[in-house]
Amino acid sequence: MGLITISPGHYLPGTGASDLIDEVTEARKVVSRVVQLLRVASVGVTHIVDNTSNSTGENLDYLISHHNNSSRKLDVSVHFNSTSGRHDTGIGTEILYLNDKIRTFANKVSKSISNASGLRNRGARKRINLSFLNNTEQPSIIIEVCFVNSTVDVAIYREKFDAICIAIANELIQYVKPGHPLIKEVPHITSQEILDLNEYLDTDEMKSVLDKPILKELFSSTSLVKRLEVILTDIEKVKWIIEKGVSEEAIQNVWLEKLENGSLTTTDLMGLSTLILINGME
Ligand SMILES: [Zn+2]
Repeated sequence: MGLITISPGHYLPGTGASDLIDEVTEARKVVSRVVQLLRVASVGVTHIVDNTSNSTGENLDYLISHHNNSSRKLDVSVHFNSTSGRHDTGIGTEILYLNDKIRTFANKVSKSISNASGLRNRGARKRINLSFLNNTEQPSIIIEVCFVNSTVDVAIYREKFDAICIAIANELIQYVKPGHPLIKEVPHITSQEILDLNEYLDTDEMKSVLDKPILKELFSSTSLVKRLEVILTDIEKVKWIIEKGVSEEAIQNVWLEKLENGSLTTTDLMGLSTLILINGME
């Protein structure tokens, strides 16, 4: 049963803050790693990634409805922050919240991230005008990991990525399962572990690989759409296609990561299949 539902903010890379790093790309990495840590700790988690929206409004509707349709005790959204200009000083990490009942927890998360990484602790900040906080039905927080336009923050984030993810995962676990053993150290995801997708891909993520409306637009034959639907809902088959392409060097390894973090789209998979097939001819 799910205890935590977590999603990276915004929809496609480039749709959030961007300077030294891209907010959406990094938020997806943090969420993927936190989800992996939670699963290793056997804490039920639902991982939501929005690859379908075309606007901020659609994105908020998507995230809020997917959060509210999942079983959980806590809603978490991961973002990166920005101010104007470029800064060579550290700005720091902060947690946004609305409900006063979750203020203490928000402060703890901020402090833990700061302690684990050295990012300045900006603490819990109450925000009354954020749609995610106003409309998710369980207690919710928005983690603003650090500032994309601070050279100091970004350097710390890069160096301490895993420590930050572990700190976040531990605080989330303590909120939903007080007293649960803390995660000390978990090896990085290896490419083999990425291949072992069944461990941490859940139904929600598979829905983002299988985009039925797009299939219907792309193909003129209903029977072709039906046959592809069968293939694209079979995680073993999707995994096999990507693994085959990577091992034959027809496509890059990054596509495996995209599959793992839920950002591989149906159309990507169609294009990749073409490249793999052509590679086999040459
Ligand atoms: Zn954001």
